[in-house]
Amino acid sequence: MQRSQKKLIQWFLENQRAFPWRQDRSPYSIWVSEMMLQQTQASVVIPYFIRWMDRFPTIDILAETSIEQVIKLWEGLGYYSRARYLHAGAKYIVEELNGKFPDTKEELKKIKGLGPYTIGAILSLAYNQKEPAVDGNVIRVLTRFYGIADDIAKQTTIKKLNLLADSLLPDDQSALFNEMLIELGATVCKKVPNCNACPVQSHCKAYAQNLIAALPYKSKKVMTEHLYRVVAIIHYKDHFLVKRGEKDQIMSDLYQFPYFSKTDESDITKQILAELNIDATWLSDLPDVTHTFTRYKAHLFPAVFSCDRLNHNLPSSYEWLTLSELTGRPFSSGHKRILSSIINQ
Ligand code: SF4
Repeated sequence: MQRSQKKLIQWFLENQRAFPWRQDRSPYSIWVSEMMLQQTQASVVIPYFIRWMDRFPTIDILAETSIEQVIKLWEGLGYYSRARYLHAGAKYIVEELNGKFPDTKEELKKIKGLGPYTIGAILSLAYNQKEPAVDGNVIRVLTRFYGIADDIAKQTTIKKLNLLADSLLPDDQSALFNEMLIELGATVCKKVPNCNACPVQSHCKAYAQNLIAALPYKSKKVMTEHLYRVVAIIHYKDHFLVKRGEKDQIMSDLYQFPYFSKTDESDITKQILAELNIDATWLSDLPDVTHTFTRYKAHLFPAVFSCDRLNHNLPSSYEWLTLSELTGRPFSSGHKRILSSIINQ
């Protein structure tokens, strides 16, 4: 893509859409338009942007206006925090920076509501600084063009794409190059892309390798499932009952104390009798333990029980072991912590 810089910028100059914010490259105009464009289609933003710049043409006028009037103008655009951030940011710039719009990353970070993309957009589009501005459009173009299959849900991938975008920027035309990438993603390399209209089709990996539908790759957010369990530490004299995890199960070969789902009506002694044929007596509770494995978060409520005999008539995965024997066995992490609290009792 670096080798095609000139061609791509030319493509942008010939194909860019006409937006009112493209006629005014001041940092204020870019800030306002980028805030409005978050989560909102450009066609919806246009009338709001025109009205805003008409009513609040400068940062000073915006800072002097009441928040009620600002919100009134924003009415219908949604996500009202964006209007509040603009108003608070204008006040901050006027009161703390003498009305001078910041031109460094560090200063821009102090303005609420500005993330890495918007900061990059302001620095490059308004000040032509060599800063990448990677939004969803740019992510689509870069992952497809370079055939990057890394998970874009991960911050490490976003960092990598920012570094890549940074390395592509020409020394003197970073504003145009960034805008070109955004425009290419927004108008050609869309979710369903129009590759025949793409100026870089001949070098695109996703196009050549038929990977377009697979890129960018984003893993699905896995919902955590909460498990509530009473862990029964059943002992007869110095022997404790434990169960070894069965082969091919999550806790395969790891030891755990017997456990039971915890419900409001749980009568654990009854469940111990029904499932293990052991007549147990509750003695005490131990501190709760939580531990996470795969997509589960287990909330463990350990309780100590005594019983009047060693029941050997149990499935072979069960064993009665002494404390010193237990310490030599591999335990799942939650039950290992329970074992430690037994030892330290
Ligand atoms: Fe996107 Fe298609 Fe262009 Fe590749 S060829 S960058 S997939 S529009």
